Amino acid sequence: MNFSQIGKNTSPLKAIVVTGAIGLMIVIAGTAAFIVEQGRLLDEVEKKQALYLDLIDFRAKLTEFELAKKRGIDIIAEEAPGRKEEPAGVLLFMYDRLAARIQSARLKNFPELHAARQNSPALLAVENLELFRLELESTIERARIETRDAAERLVDVNQYFLFFILFVLLSLGMTAGWLLHFNYRQSLIPLSQLAAQLSLLNRNIPESIHDTAEEMKKELTETDRSREIAQITESIMSFCGDIEEKNRKLDEIHIMDEKTNLYNYRHFKEHLITEVERAKPHSDKVSLAMIDIDHFKLFNDLHGHLAGDKMLAVLADIISSQCRLSDVPSRFGGEEFAILFPKTDSDIAREIADRLRRIISVEPLPHEQGEPDGHLTVSIGIATFPGDADDWVGLIKNADRALYAAKAAGRNAVITYSSMNTPTELQG
Ligand code: GH3
Ligand code: MG
Ligand code: MG
Repeated sequence: MNFSQIGKNTSPLKAIVVTGAIGLMIVIAGTAAFIVEQGRLLDEVEKKQALYLDLIDFRAKLTEFELAKKRGIDIIAEEAPGRKEEPAGVLLFMYDRLAARIQSARLKNFPELHAARQNSPALLAVENLELFRLELESTIERARIETRDAAERLVDVNQYFLFFILFVLLSLGMTAGWLLHFNYRQSLIPLSQLAAQLSLLNRNIPESIHDTAEEMKKELTETDRSREIAQITESIMSFCGDIEEKNRKLDEIHIMDEKTNLYNYRHFKEHLITEVERAKPHSDKVSLAMIDIDHFKLFNDLHGHLAGDKMLAVLADIISSQCRLSDVPSRFGGEEFAILFPKTDSDIAREIADRLRRIISVEPLPHEQGEPDGHLTVSIGIATFPGDADDWVGLIKNADRALYAAKAAGRNAVITYSSMNTPTELQG
């Protein structure tokens, strides 16, 4: 398992607590070991120091013994109360005690001093005392050095402990820093990316929520994101999907007529204005057909408004089927329809409209037998920009006039505004 896997599966808080606990255990164990070692060294220093002082003391007594010997005075009898031997024996008794301590202190150089003691009868001879004193001096020096060494070891241990504490603190700090950095990479960077993408999302609404959401998902997948961030991303994706679906429905409601499923008047008008404006600089033609059902009031009176509504839907389907992709078939209002023909002159518009009129007049439609001619029919008026009108309002007005002309001409007819003064209308 590598570090990134550890970080991925472990929460940062848990990792910090575990690391802290491990660090604390190391510090406690280290401190305990330090206290034990420090106590041992202190003891050693104290013992060696005491031995060193006793050796110094012994040397002084030896000097006193030599002087007393020369003067014939017994001045060290007090050192060995209860012993009634000669002063040399007392001195040797002191040496015995010291030798035992030197041995327990593992002081080097001891064997030579011991060897001196083996020849105790000769020891106190003046010439041998000189040799003994030399060896004693050497032992005192050794004791001094070892006392100093033990004290230095004590100082060393204290310093090691200080380094150890610093090392643990540094390690803990670095681990905490790494965890914070990892946490930052795991949570904050993806979060900030998420925030950036969300602001992008806000800007892009309503053009392409889906694209933005997909983009967002791609970007966040590339980073080393946590499970929580992935869940948030998925939620936002699904949220975007919902918004998109609702927006699509809203768009439909906004532009479609519910009863006929053709474009509504608002959408028709927007298109009409746009197309007329677009046609102006290019000298393009825009035609408009206004369609009105003949005797529709009669149809409603005979068969009811629900049957009338169904008829509106059936006629809307036929109108749509006869339009080209670029045409805009719409419900103008009531039982009137309008078709916008962009980039279309009057002749072509009239051809399409007349084909539509003929199809409706021959198509067997429900309940149409009650109509005056036994068929349901429509009348259509056409006007074309720029020949028949200067703007979109004039275009509607004149298409309407042509429609009334078609009604006046007996219905089931198509009349173009331009031909109203020269009636060569299609009929029948
Ligand atoms: P004309 O041949 O002169 O057009 O006669 P008409 O009876 O069709 O007269 P008009 O065009 O004025 O038609 C208006 C009628 O259209 C009134 C109403 O009964 C009917 N109508 C309008 N809107 C609706 C609708 O949404 N549903 C139904 N069922 N009928 C409608
Ligand atoms: Mg009408
Ligand atoms: Mg009508």
